[in-house]
Amino acid sequence: MSARDIARFWEWGRKIVCVGRNYAEHAKELNNAVPAEPVLFLKPPTAYVREGSPILTPAYSGELQHEVELGVVIGKRGAAIPRSAAMEHVAGYALCLDMTARDVQRECKARGLPWTLAKAFDTSCPVSEFIPKERIPDPGDVGLWLEVNGQLRQSGRTSSMIFSVPHLVSYISRVITLEEGDLILTGTPEGVSAVRERDELRAGIDGVVTVTFTVESRGGSGATSEAS
Ligand code: MG
Repeated sequence: MSARDIARFWEWGRKIVCVGRNYAEHAKELNNAVPAEPVLFLKPPTAYVREGSPILTPAYSGELQHEVELGVVIGKRGAAIPRSAAMEHVAGYALCLDMTARDVQRECKARGLPWTLAKAFDTSCPVSEFIPKERIPDPGDVGLWLEVNGQLRQSGRTSSMIFSVPHLVSYISRVITLEEGDLILTGTPEGVSAVRERDELRAGIDGVVTVTFTVESRGGSGATSEAS
């Protein structure tokens, strides 16, 4: 990574607040109820990966899945932000992938455990370059898509979101202070599927940005056995 890339990485490589089940069709495909309030979880800054570096599959998972999402980058610190002021706190956007060890997540759900192993591992948050706010005048109606090895797997519009970007910024900021450079992942449309080593993922926001990532094996024996 060049010095310029590092500078840009740190420009907004801070905490990542993720929203689950924000598209009704995706909630249904995983047999989840459509939520009455946003479902939140976190990824650490070490989850970021940028183009040119691979997505690494955790050794303890046999079912790594992609979720293409609109990322919202915060430009102004705030807590308990009213919905009417939410967009003043948004600096821009990024195309993001919420990489998920689905088999591990199923196990966590069944056992009532947090999703950390399933969602927060290193390289679980591939991101595009920063997209200034002006380039997406209406975040509530943009097209998102994702292909694996040239085959379209996900295609949706943010107009199908259950909770809008202003609603999410306001809701999250009542629980977690949002700071400059923080990233919000706003949920994924339907069509999630498993990826394997050497797969090529291409994803984009219609007319705005395209990213390409490859999948590699992390190697080693995984979190569980390393720790024991
Ligand atoms: Mg997601």
